[in-house]
Amino acid sequence: MNFNPLSDTHIKNLRAMVAEDRFSTGESVLELHAKDESHHRPCRPESGIWPVTRDEVARVVKYANDNRLPVTGWGSGSSLEGNPIPVQQGLVLDFTRMNRIVDIRTGDFQADVEPGLVYQDLNEKLRHTGLFFPPDPGARATLGGMIANNASGTRTIYYGSTKDYVLRLSVVLANGEIIELGTRASKTSSGYDLIRLFVGSEGTLGIVVEATVRLAGLPAEFSAAVATFASVEDAGKAVFEIMRNGLHPAALELLGPECVELMNREENLTLAIAPTLFMEFHGSTTGQLAEVLEMAAEICNSLGCRRFEPGVGRAERDRIFKARHALGEMIIRNHPDSNVLVMDVAVPITAYSPLIAAIRGELAGTGLVSYYISHAGNGNVHLNIVGKKGDTRQWELINGIVQRLVTRSLELGGTATGEHGIGLGKRKFMIAEHGSSLQWMKRVKSLFDPNGILNPGKIFP
Ligand SMILES: Cc1cc2nc3c(=O)[nH]c(=O)nc-3n(C[C@H](O)[C@H](O)[C@H](O)COP(=O)(O)OP(=O)(O)OC[C@H]3O[C@@H](n4cnc5c(N)ncnc54)[C@H](O)[C@@H]3O)c2cc1C
Repeated sequence: MNFNPLSDTHIKNLRAMVAEDRFSTGESVLELHAKDESHHRPCRPESGIWPVTRDEVARVVKYANDNRLPVTGWGSGSSLEGNPIPVQQGLVLDFTRMNRIVDIRTGDFQADVEPGLVYQDLNEKLRHTGLFFPPDPGARATLGGMIANNASGTRTIYYGSTKDYVLRLSVVLANGEIIELGTRASKTSSGYDLIRLFVGSEGTLGIVVEATVRLAGLPAEFSAAVATFASVEDAGKAVFEIMRNGLHPAALELLGPECVELMNREENLTLAIAPTLFMEFHGSTTGQLAEVLEMAAEICNSLGCRRFEPGVGRAERDRIFKARHALGEMIIRNHPDSNVLVMDVAVPITAYSPLIAAIRGELAGTGLVSYYISHAGNGNVHLNIVGKKGDTRQWELINGIVQRLVTRSLELGGTATGEHGIGLGKRKFMIAEHGSSLQWMKRVKSLFDPNGILNPGKIFP
């Protein structure tokens, strides 16, 4: 695709479309929108725009389309695959000022939200309604960014991912047209599911300007437990047994010993340094949850669990999970001279052991620092590998390892990305994962965005 550089005329016209203080070509603004939280190389846009209404978005996008200027949506920039990096420069539409909760309909379990709303802020607002929005990527992500990446998190095993919570979308297409997708009914069989097409499309098909999301009832009681195992394989078996026995965990997270060591150091904990399962259960009474924990303990103990530390009640759950939720940021903070590559494969549960064996084989003797974190109930494995900034040889080694591990995951019937999206880093696996259906994705892209102005350079190899 050929794009035009941003000219003085473009700047004058775009500035006139939004208020003076919501358009900028300032150095710090461009720098701020040049990188997300990934290891990918930064690239500055040519301008930053903060829209506050859907009509502003429509006008700017239409102008960009008519003038062949790239447009990239921006939420919090917390992506881990370079998803919002404006690699073809152009305009970044930053949604942080378009962040209203338009309506909360508790009786329907629904909220209408603008794309720049941070999901923790939505949950804070919902706190007294007895409802919440369950997808929880951990970082301070916006609803627009979560919808675009189909984000999920620790509780996806029980509650599902973002795609399960989007009922309705208002979307600005590349030509500036605003379309309404979906329904406020809680189920529908009507026509093609365009919502599912737009969720996870990483801002390459259209720009989300409003969403109706589904809410869930806050559970009355919580419990959690930490179980320590001799090996990752034994912990993996416990994951399968906990699910097979119908205990319905709300989170089932498997961490490698290196993660536990870091959490002990940073959070003053005294967990045994070994492969560890963090589990959480939601229910209606403490009695019921205590029973579930007892069963979980039995299962873990029968599989060689060395220590099982249970806790019933919200405060106990929060205490046990606090360090787990802070882990991603802890790793980044502890390696200031390095970048961290986060592998994000997901495999069927039965392929979990062969994948772990492959990871072990690849890392042996490399001397690399890495952290094993897994949303184990979903077979979603993150290997966070630390590489020194600018050390080309080390990065060649890391990229080779990830290339082979993703290929192995695909051979095992898995996917290159369980939750972070394709962005820049996973484009090279699209042919291997999707084969001839990739051509149909390309046709969909050119149908919605014939000039390729929306988040160019992403998803397709
Ligand atoms: C410490 C840490 C832990 C994380 N843990 C998880 C996790 O457990 N699970 C998980 O899924 N993710 C996780 N992430 C990744 C990240 O938080 C999610 O991908 C999140 O959805 C990104 O949201 P954002 O608001 O930061 O979006 P951004 O990064 O700003 O953008 C994401 C994508 O959305 C597009 N976009 C933004 N707004 C719009 C819009 N209005 N319309 C169309 N497209 C738009 C962008 O162009 C980009 O392609 C983690 C990140 C960090 C730093």
